Amino acid sequence: MSEDNRSPVRRMTVADRLFLVSFRPAHESHLRAKDPGLCAECVGRPCTTVCPAAVYEWLEDTDGARLVISFENCLECGACRLACPERNIDWAYPPSGHGVTYRYG
Ligand code: SF4
Ligand code: SF4
Repeated sequence: MSEDNRSPVRRMTVADRLFLVSFRPAHESHLRAKDPGLCAECVGRPCTTVCPAAVYEWLEDTDGARLVISFENCLECGACRLACPERNIDWAYPPSGHGVTYRYG
């Protein structure tokens, strides 16, 4: 019986991949919920689960209930824009020279 000496392929996790990016945040967010009232009524708030960088978080505390958007961590994949059932995300690329940079190797 022959032995398979090939090295096992290690699958990269999202955490692994995040080590391959660097960020240069802009001063202002390139992501915005157009109507916060729609977010308050939104069923399941898919933006809070679809984003690979956990940019969106629904908070309820003494400052009230709201969608917090940590735009500095955005990977610019566009998934949130597609996932929002209300088309409520105002999405743009960060200004030139800002945002995410992907490093390979
Ligand atoms: S998916 Fe859209 S409407 Fe729902 S919470 Fe997120 S931004 Fe708001
Ligand atoms: S573009 Fe991608 S990484 Fe950026 S906030 Fe949307 S889902 Fe998250």
